[in-house]
Amino acid sequence: MHNEIERILFTEDQIAARVRELGQQISRDYEQLLGERISHEPPLAIGLLRGAVIFLADLARAMPIPLELAFMALSSYGRSTSPGEVRVVKDLEIPVAGRHLLIVEDIVDTGQTLAHLTELLRARHPASVKICTLLDKTPRRTRSIKLDYVGFTLPEDAFVVGYGLDYAERYRNLPYIAALKQSATRS
Ligand code: 5GP
Repeated sequence: MHNEIERILFTEDQIAARVRELGQQISRDYEQLLGERISHEPPLAIGLLRGAVIFLADLARAMPIPLELAFMALSSYGRSTSPGEVRVVKDLEIPVAGRHLLIVEDIVDTGQTLAHLTELLRARHPASVKICTLLDKTPRRTRSIKLDYVGFTLPEDAFVVGYGLDYAERYRNLPYIAALKQSATRS
């Protein structure tokens, strides 16, 4: 184990099992919602770069329905200067009016990123917008947003890495999700 890792929160096997469940649940819901229309109106999964890439790669393969993939990148200006202000760094390259959108996020913390993104996407008149997040970190939530699908709830304010999540661009390739030592984030 890397020496900046404090403890493993979710193992590779736990993640794989939960992602399979989520994939099946989401697929069933879209099948119910769309019926036979699903083949010509496939949902569009929008992965948020870069943290959700690994999650979306596995989730998409656990969804046995027609599905399209797209990516967006958002950046936060940081809480100290301009709290909650979120900027689109990479936008979608296709129109989403009339589409069924599934936002796929790595972790929801304050909720600012997703509150901003859902507002922005709803203004483009999609048929529906749902949110799937791998992790729901609850202690610092300031915006109430409806999370349709949650992989795991994190009731503590730990900084987590692995399975796509980084600290200074490192640790994204860990196969598990772990809490980083506080000393690592201070240096
Ligand atoms: P929010 O806008 O909900 O406060 O923040 C969401 C974003 O903050 C996530 O997409 C992620 O980039 C980052 N973030 C929040 N908590 C963590 C964490 O514990 N670990 C990592 N690696 N990123 C986090």
